[in-house]
Amino acid sequence: MIEPGQTIGILGGGQLGRMTALAAAALGYRCHVYCPIKDSPAKLVTAFSTTAAYDNKLALGRFAKSVDVITFEFENVPGDTAEFLAERKPVRPGPNALRIAQDRLKEKDFLQSIGVPTAPYRAVTTGEEFRAAVSAIGPRAILKTVRMGYDGKGQFPIRADSDLAALWQRFANNDGILEGFVEFACEISVIVARGENNRWATYAPVENQHVQGILDTTLAPARVPSEVAMRAEAIARHIAEKLDLIGLLAVEMFVTHRGEVLVNELAPRPHNSGHWTIDACYTSQFEQLVRAICGLPLGSPDHHSDAVMRNLIGADIAKWREAITDPFQKIHLYGKDVASPGRKMGHVTKLIPRR
Ligand code: AMP
Repeated sequence: MIEPGQTIGILGGGQLGRMTALAAAALGYRCHVYCPIKDSPAKLVTAFSTTAAYDNKLALGRFAKSVDVITFEFENVPGDTAEFLAERKPVRPGPNALRIAQDRLKEKDFLQSIGVPTAPYRAVTTGEEFRAAVSAIGPRAILKTVRMGYDGKGQFPIRADSDLAALWQRFANNDGILEGFVEFACEISVIVARGENNRWATYAPVENQHVQGILDTTLAPARVPSEVAMRAEAIARHIAEKLDLIGLLAVEMFVTHRGEVLVNELAPRPHNSGHWTIDACYTSQFEQLVRAICGLPLGSPDHHSDAVMRNLIGADIAKWREAITDPFQKIHLYGKDVASPGRKMGHVTKLIPRR
């Protein structure tokens, strides 16, 4: 067991790292944040930080020496970095989960291999493969980059009248994946925590509404039949078990009008759709991550309030002034100074106490 007083290393310095560090501090842990960007949100709340590139072996080696366990808050940390660190200190979740989650093709192949349903998909690396994939999957589809895509970045929707040649040119020969477009009834996500000795905590599925590919609002719990919620939870646990994951896994899913649950994406880290757990659950996703990676028993994931979490994106940051006048809204600002469009500046959770 890694005891309070010991040090947790966090790769990545964004708001997920910041909220993890705050939860770790409440349990008496220290955190050391490793991130190439100076003054990133997590560094502003931790005593120890390193500002260096993810491939700087000297800095990584020093970082590993200074910590007792390592986790990440950003899944585009290079797989080689995670492996280099894993030879020196426990990295939780492990490099394998990271490599799968950062590559949409590996992710979908893995899900298929363990019997988890997804949208139909095809790998596309040339214009010819792209045209063949559109014929196979149908004209209503989305072309996505295999790597470095998040918040709807690197995505090109396709319709029956799309100019495929021009689209492929704009895609600029990236490695791609063509996915069939899912006419979903709603999008949900499930966060599971898995600790040592197969300890589990599963949060209730939540409903996610996106605007321009970015999460805007999370309704907790999701408005889905209990049978769908139970199936979604079972799928998330099945994936975490097959990944042999210790830590957190967020699973993004589509629920179709026929009640099918299709997995869209995996994130082996805290997730934006789990921010509501800070204020509405007995144990937040961040505390749960700390407990899992340190070998502590997990806390209850149950919620004492229903919640609506809204992201404050870009200029929305100004809305904190209004939100703070409502005693049932909890405000979380990430300490970022420039409110550029599309940037997640904070979030507000409206609590609806359960009777
Ligand atoms: P992603 O980066 O894959 O999470 O995609 C961002 C958002 O785009 C998702 O949350 C959905 O709203 C939408 N989206 C992505 N893939 C699909 C798909 N195959 N069918 C329908 N909508 C999708």
